[in-house]
Order: sequence, then structure tokens, then C-alpha cells
Amino acid sequence: MRGTLPDRVTEDGGPAPCAEPPSRSTLASWPTDTTGILKQITADSHEAVLIADADGRLIEVSRKAPEIFGTGTGMTGAPRHIRDLLPETLEQAAHTVLDAFRTGIEAIGRSGECRIEVAGENRILDYTITPSRLAGPDGAVFICITARDVTVKRRQAHRLEFLSRHDELTGALRRHALLDAIDHQIGNGRGCAVLVLNLHRFKTINLTLGRPVGDMVLKAVAERLADFDPRFAGPARLGADTFALYAPATLSRDALDAAAATLTRIINAPFRLSGISARVGVHIGISSHRPGEATCAERLLDEAEMALDEARKTAGTGIAHFDPAQSARQSRARAIERELWKALDRSEFSLAYQPQVRLSDGCIIGAEALVRWTHSDLGRIGPSDFVEVAEATGFVEDLGRWVLNAACHDAMSWATDITVAVNVSPVQFARGHIVADVRAALDRSGLPAERLTLEITESAFLQPSHALMDSLAALRALGVSLALDDFGTGYASFGYLKRFPLSKIKVDQMFVRTLTTDRASQAVIQSVKVLTDGLGLSLICEGIETEEQRLFLRLIGCQEGQGYLFGKPQRTAELAAYLREQARLRVSAGLYSVRA
Ligand code: C2E
Ligand code: MG
Ligand code: MG
Repeated sequence: MRGTLPDRVTEDGGPAPCAEPPSRSTLASWPTDTTGILKQITADSHEAVLIADADGRLIEVSRKAPEIFGTGTGMTGAPRHIRDLLPETLEQAAHTVLDAFRTGIEAIGRSGECRIEVAGENRILDYTITPSRLAGPDGAVFICITARDVTVKRRQAHRLEFLSRHDELTGALRRHALLDAIDHQIGNGRGCAVLVLNLHRFKTINLTLGRPVGDMVLKAVAERLADFDPRFAGPARLGADTFALYAPATLSRDALDAAAATLTRIINAPFRLSGISARVGVHIGISSHRPGEATCAERLLDEAEMALDEARKTAGTGIAHFDPAQSARQSRARAIERELWKALDRSEFSLAYQPQVRLSDGCIIGAEALVRWTHSDLGRIGPSDFVEVAEATGFVEDLGRWVLNAACHDAMSWATDITVAVNVSPVQFARGHIVADVRAALDRSGLPAERLTLEITESAFLQPSHALMDSLAALRALGVSLALDDFGTGYASFGYLKRFPLSKIKVDQMFVRTLTTDRASQAVIQSVKVLTDGLGLSLICEGIETEEQRLFLRLIGCQEGQGYLFGKPQRTAELAAYLREQARLRVSAGLYSVRA
């Protein structure tokens, strides 16, 4: 009859598919023999179910039990005792439960996981042992043992757990697992050091030998790191080609340096991978924590990564320790980068003008515009702190346009024979809008092109393209002068001087600073003077701070100078007032003042 309990068991004794729930009328026709029902349920259970009396004699057993326990295969006849089926550990546990129960600890059962070996393989069983006492005068004691095979489930969970903490490719720890380990270490109070390693030229391996080889290299690197000095734990993989190790103890700076040097050698050694030989370099950043210092894993790792940045930037061993002063500089640099874009809209930029004088009489003939940035929180920020960032982000084009407009506008308030020099970044040339920007600034302000000089550094000429040559020619055609700034500090190829339509060379202050003490600086300036004379260019020396320097430069025939001796960078109104004063003096007495 369909819907009755016996019908719900399939012929092979397996579980019956879910059927419709029985109706009231069918329930009425179900057998009332509960013993029969329980027997059947036990026999059909998908778990191992053993019901036994107080002496371990089996009363009921599920068909699955021998398979789950991996026992009873060679047995003749049906199992009679729990020992016929249960692995030893479970059998002992069952007896323990029974003993406790008999001595009056009524409700004590036991559950848990146990590992058994079946046909040479490990199996994990999830089991429960429940003792029971029949109601009634004799109060007979029974025990029910159930067990499920959870091997696959546990392995999957274990794998997931492993993958959540380890990198799939290399098996190295993931960042959060490394942080946990370091935090634990800091908590132990024994100090901790962290080494962050970044592979150098790894991308080249991926590009030239292919990604599969790249993956093999990464695995091999992780293996080398895992086999490294036992004082170091890990490794962890923090990014594509960035790894970390930590030392769970305080190590001296020398010991860390020595370890990093060894690591560098180990990583540098060629990898021989299925017939291919590959090599990578490495940079290492180190941070260390001493017991008692307040820190956390996140900070320690950040510090090691900052040190790594430094190691990558500076030539040398490729190893750098975290330096707190440098970290303050880096966070300021990051703040500068963030705030720079907003600075134009907030009108935070201004220009300061440094006089340029004729050395023969000290008369001001021009001024260089130097950009200044005043930020509400960061304070006054010098161009050497932000021009490079502005160049890297491309912002220098907007900034440069603003400087050009402001400088041309301001110069209109000065005497008509005073020129204005504006620094132009190579990036402005590379972007290709410089000619249009200059033309617009001249048109808007009404400044004659002859009063504008653009100061360009040598790096603008490193990759001379047709576009660059066209821009330079167009600027000269407008009537603008071009000065080569910081001459002598870069690649200083004399070739530039001939090939590019320059009007002026500006010798770097480095040579002027050492002029009176270093004969080599004197020789350089003298040679540049000869050179500029030969090429028909004018020469200006910057950074003149002393009368001695001025005299020497005058003696060798240098016509123009700039430096604190003649005036520091100042506001346009100050410069305009000074120029008026200069004009008055020239008219009244024919004297020229030199401003110290
Ligand atoms: P630079 O063009 O070589 O400017 C000269 C720098 O030397 C200025 O520094 C100036 O204040 C400083 N200086 C002038 N005379 C003396 C002196 O006698 N002794 C000493 N010790 N220093 C002196 P500043 O204003 O900090 O500018 C640094 C650099 O930033 C400039 O070097 C220039 O390359 C760049 N820069 C400034 N303004 C701009 C700008 O508007 N655009 C671009 N692209 N770069 C700019
Ligand atoms: Mg300059
Ligand atoms: Mg300069």
C-alpha cells in the first residue's frame, strides 16, 4: 500500500525518495507496532547506528554500519557485539559512557570526531554515543552509537580554510594570515622583525618566458624563502611579486642586514625550470619592533613596505630599514599629492619674483617667477616638494598655464625694460600645448614676447622629437627667449647648445656655491663663458650669495647674475616698488644700488 511506512523503503534498502506526506486516512492505517518501526528506521539509516545492551551485545544495527566503520567484511554471520563493528577508540568510548551511566551519571553521553584507518586510508567519523535507561522496574540500560563519515566534508572545509589563509599558487601565507601571526608575536612580547621582498625584473620573465614560467619562478621563490634561516617564519605573498618573512624575535640591525644580504644572494641564484634558466633580482625593506614599543602588525608591515619603497628608489644594496623621519616625509608627500589638484581652485598658489641683475652695475634687468604654495594645514610648500609630483601626475600642465598667465600679468606692472623668466617643465613640452599656452598668456596680458624668457631644464631635450623642435622654433618665432636652466647638473651635452634655438645658459648654483673654494668650479664657469661667447648666447649665473662670488663672475666676464646677494624671491608689489626706487636713483644720481 502506497504511503504506509514499509512502502517508503526502496527495494535495495536505500533511502526512499520523498513522497507526498501521508493523509489522515493513511495515517490511521499505519502499524502501531513502534518496535517494528524503530527497527526499520535503524536498519535503513544512512548513518552507522548501533543499539546495544549494557554488555555491548548488539540489538539493532544499520546496514550502513560495517561500511562506515570499515569492519565486519571478513565476518561470518551477523555481528553480535559492538566490538565486532566498532573501531577500538569508539568501543572504548562506548564502555566509558556505559560505566559512567551505570554509576549514576544519568545524562552523560559523548560526541565528537575520531579518525580511523580503513584500507590504509584515513577516515574522519563524526559520532555520538547516547546511553538510555528503560522506564520500568528493571530499568535496563542501553546504548546507541551513531557515526557519519565526514572525511570529504572535513577535507573540503580544511582546504577552504587553508586557501583563506594561504595563496593558492605558492602556498605562502596571505596578508591577513601574516598580520595575525605578527600580531600574535607582538603580543608575546618578544619583539618581531619583518622583511618585505619585491622581485626585480619579474615582469620581464612573464613577458619574455611566459606566464607559466613566471608562476614557476614565484613558486620556487616561495620555496627558497620557506627553506631560509629557521629564525624566520612565513613566507607570505603580499602581491604579485612581493613576499614577506618575519622573525619572531628581536634581531639586531646587523643580524637583519646579514640575513637580508643572504636572502638577496639566495633569490639572485638562477632558477632552472624545465630546461629554462631564469634570474630575478630583489629589493628588501625591513622594519623591526622591540618588546615594549607600542605598535601593531599592520603598522609594522606598512613600515617594512615603506622601507621597501626606499630600497627600490635608492641605488646600492637594495636593502633598506624603515626610518621614521623618512616616513614623515612620505606621508607629507602623499598629502601633497592629494591636495595638489585642489590647490588651483582654492587659489593657494602665488608667485615670488627673484631679481636678475646686470653684474657690471647691479641694475635689475629681469626677475624669475618662482611658484609658491600655501596650504591651510600643510603650511608653505616649496616647489622642490611639489613640482616633481605635479610632473608625475600631469598636473604641472595646469599649474604651468596658471604660472604663465600670472607672471605675464604681473610683469605688466613693472618697468617696460624688465623681463620675466618663467620655469617650464619638460612635461609641458611633451604634452604639446606649450606654444598655445604662451601665446594665450601674452595675448591676455599684453606683455611683449621679448620680455618673456622660458627657463627649460636639460631633461626637456633628452628625447628630442620633431614636435619639440617645432615648439621651440614656434616660441622663438613669437619672440620669446629660451634659457637652459641648471646647466651642468644633468647630462650637460654641449650638443644641445648648438642644436636647440637657445638664447641663454643659466649655470647651476652648485658651481657658484663652490666658486671661491673649488678650482674645478671656476674652470667649469670659465669654460661655459667661452662656450656661450662662441655660440653667441648670453650667460647668467644663479645662486650668487657673496660679494666674492660676484667679483669673480664679473672678472671672467659673466654679464648677468641672480642670487640672495641681489634679492630673495619677493612679491610682485615689492619688486615693482624696488624697481621704481631703482629708476628714481638712476635718474637722480646715476647710482645703482645692490640689495643684500
Ligand atoms: P630654479 O629654477 O633653478 O630656481 C632657483 C631656485 O634657487 C629657487 O628655489 C630660488 O629660490 C633658489 N635660489 C635663488 N637664489 C639663491 C641663492 O642665492 N642661494 C640659494 N641657496 N638658493 C637660491 P625655489 O623657489 O625653491 O625653486 C626651486 C625649483 O623649483 C626651481 O629651480 C625650479 O626648477 C622649480 N620651480 C619653481 N617655480 C616653478 C614653476 O613655476 N614651474 C616649474 N615647472 N618649476 C618651478
Ligand atoms: Mg629657473
Ligand atoms: Mg636653476
